[in-house]
Amino acid sequence: MKVLVTGGMGYIGSHTCVQMIEAGMTPIIFDNLYNSKATVLPRLENLTGAAPKFVQGDIRDKALLVETMREHAIEAVIHFAGLKAVGESVQKPLEYYDNNVNGTLVLVDAMREVGIKSLVFSSSATVYGDPASVPILESFPTSATNPYGRSKLMVEECLTDFQTANPDWSITLLRYFNPVGSHPSGDLGEDPQGIPNNLMPFISQVAVGRREHLSVFGSDYPTHDGTGVRDYIHVMDLADGHIAALNKVGNKSGLHIYNLGTGNGLSVLDMVKAFEAASDKEIPYQLVDRRQGDIAECWADPSKARKELEWSADRTVDEMTRDTWNWQSKNPQGYPDL
Ligand code: NAD
Ligand code: UDP
Repeated sequence: MKVLVTGGMGYIGSHTCVQMIEAGMTPIIFDNLYNSKATVLPRLENLTGAAPKFVQGDIRDKALLVETMREHAIEAVIHFAGLKAVGESVQKPLEYYDNNVNGTLVLVDAMREVGIKSLVFSSSATVYGDPASVPILESFPTSATNPYGRSKLMVEECLTDFQTANPDWSITLLRYFNPVGSHPSGDLGEDPQGIPNNLMPFISQVAVGRREHLSVFGSDYPTHDGTGVRDYIHVMDLADGHIAALNKVGNKSGLHIYNLGTGNGLSVLDMVKAFEAASDKEIPYQLVDRRQGDIAECWADPSKARKELEWSADRTVDEMTRDTWNWQSKNPQGYPDL
C-alpha cells in the first residue's frame, strides 16, 4: 500500500515509516523540515535498506499535495505534520491554527480532489482536557486548555463533520498519550530544537550533560509520590498502532477513534529512577512549582484499540528508557546538519 506520510521526517513519523516498510507498505514522506532534518532520510535508508521517497513541501500547498498524490498513486494518508509545543502555541496561536487546522483542511481538500478516502490523524490525549477520572475512555468528554490542544480538537471536529457528510470515507483519530523512546538501533530518536518541553528529552539531555538538572513541575499532586502521572508509550509501539489502524479500519468507512497508550500511569520520579537505572547516570533534580495548565494524572484505557485493532503497547518502561539513552548517548547533539 502506498501511503502519504505528512510530517514523516519528524519523531513519530520517522519511526512509523520504519515499521511501515517492515510491514511491506510504501511510505512517501511529505514534510517541510520545519522541525526535522534531512539527515533523517539516510538513517531511514540504513535501517530499512530503502530510502523512502521524500517530497519537501508544506501541507498548506494544495497544488504540490495533489501533484505528489497523483505521481505516487497514493492510496491512504497518515497525517503527522503540525506544530506541537503547548507553550509556543500560547504565544503564536495564529501560526498553530494555520498550520494544524488550516493545513489539515488543505490536505483533506487535496485528498478529495484526487479521490483518496482513507486518513489517519495524529490526535492527542490533550483533547480530554482535565479528565474527571482515570483511566480515560474514548467516550469521555473533550475540551482544550491551550491553542495547541484546541487546534487538535478543532481538527477532530472538522474531520468528524466531514466524515458525516462523506460517509464513504475512513477517518481514524488516534489519540496518543505520551510518546517516548527511540528506535532500538539508536539511529532515530526525538531531537527537540532548543530547550525541551517534554520530560523524557529533558531527562536524557541532563544525563548526557547538556543540561544541569531537571525541574520537577509540582510535588503536591494527589499521586503516589506527589509528582504528575502520565501514560508513557514507546514510540515503536505507537508506530505499530498506525499500521494496525491502516490494516484494520483504513478500508472501513466510518469515523474511528482510538486511545493509543499502555494503560499504566508512571510519575515523573518513576521516570527519573527508570532512566537512572538504564543510563547508569545520576539525574539531579529540583522540585519546583507546578507548571501552569498541567493536570495530576492522565492515562489511557486502551482496551478499544486492543479489541478492534488487535494492537497493544507492550514495550516496558525499561525499554523506553534504555532506547532513549541509546539514542541520546549515540547522538548527544541530535541529528547532524546536512
Ligand atoms: P515532530 O515535530 O517531530 O514532527 C512533525 C513533523 O511535521 C516535522 O518533521 C515538521 O517538520 C513537519 N511539519 C510541521 N508543519 C508542517 C507543514 N505545515 N507542512 C509539512 N510538514 C510540516 O512531532 P512529533 O512528535 O513526531 O508529532 C507528530 C504528530 O503527533 C503531531 O501532529 C503532534 O501534534 C502529534 N502528537 C505528538 C505528541 C508528542 O508528544 N510527540 C503527542 C500527541 C500528539
Ligand atoms: N515535567 C517535569 N519537568 C519537565 C518536563 C515535564 O516535571 O521539565 C512533567 C510534567 O509536569 C508532567 C510530565 O512531566 O507531569 C510529562 O510532561 P510532558 O511535557 O512530557 O507531557 P504532557 O503530559 O504534559 O504533555
